[in-house]
Amino acid sequence: MKKIKKSDLNKLLSQWQQKYSVFAPSNHGVVKMTAWDGKDTTFLDWYRNTVVPPKNNFLPGMEKMFDIKKDAGYKLEVTADDTKQLIFGVRPCDARALALIDVNFKDGYEDTYYLNRRKNGLLVGLGCTSPCASCFCTSLNIHPAESQDVDVMFNDIGEELLIAEVTDKGKELLAASSGLSDATAADEAKAKEAKEATFKKVTRKINTGEIKERLMPSFENEEYWKNVAAKCVSCGICTFLCPTCYCFDINDEQSKGEAARFRNWDCCSFAVYTKMPMENPREEKWRRVRQKVNHKYNFFPMIYEQIACTGCGRCIRQCPVNWDITQVLSTLPEKAKA
Ligand code: SF4
Ligand code: SF4
Repeated sequence: MKKIKKSDLNKLLSQWQQKYSVFAPSNHGVVKMTAWDGKDTTFLDWYRNTVVPPKNNFLPGMEKMFDIKKDAGYKLEVTADDTKQLIFGVRPCDARALALIDVNFKDGYEDTYYLNRRKNGLLVGLGCTSPCASCFCTSLNIHPAESQDVDVMFNDIGEELLIAEVTDKGKELLAASSGLSDATAADEAKAKEAKEATFKKVTRKINTGEIKERLMPSFENEEYWKNVAAKCVSCGICTFLCPTCYCFDINDEQSKGEAARFRNWDCCSFAVYTKMPMENPREEKWRRVRQKVNHKYNFFPMIYEQIACTGCGRCIRQCPVNWDITQVLSTLPEKAKA
């Protein structure tokens, strides 16, 4: 293992910036991963987690897929994004979320736009030290300060950061980096203690045992879901900002003989999401809320044997009406619990 003084982190990020587009947490009104400005590492003092998850770096809120040009016939020019991104400060929950999105975007049809960015990207994790009251990652078997879903993992050990390589890509990155010192056994012991302390700070818990089996019997319980959905205003924030949500819509824009196809995040909280010419199976709000919860804790696990929630807590922190998925999961009807 390696280590670096926090005061030297800017030198390391600058080195990496020679080869990669480096992204780091910034707060210009909303905390998100933005292109690093080449000097500021003060996020080490205030950063807990981003509001906009790092999925935005790989599945942007809006992206152009291709241009359609009129020549003798029509020609498609595909927009390829080969940017080599290095995202510094990814939290373990968000790294797991990307691994979950990978599963879906590799299954059957391969989404080359997303997968190409993932292939060219490096995730540098930073262990949490101060989880939010809304975080419940430990209930989803995610350690707030450890991750196998990143390429390199950093942990705060006071004046310094302990650095561990996780993947071959991470190993290569560190081998090509200068200014790192070897960590001592005392440093590793300090990191272990800090990680254990952080783990204990995640006090919000849910019971995920047999969650599919507990959710399924309540599926047709209209009264329960109406009650659960009552205060939701269908704003879509919880799904847009969820690091594991990956739904998108596609639109064509046309102007003067040219056109382009774009895709943008979409959201199952919106009434028009499932609107079809003849019907809309989820016009009523309770059906949409039921879908959101079941997709994460019932349908996704049914297909991929993994829960599509990382307990990052964003949907709780950002909801304007304090809708809380952990409350919903803890108050399933008795009949369903049986
Ligand atoms: S953020 Fe809250 S109000 Fe908005 S769609 Fe989600 S649960 Fe409903
Ligand atoms: S459902 Fe909520 S807690 Fe779970 S990953 Fe999405 S935003 Fe995070």
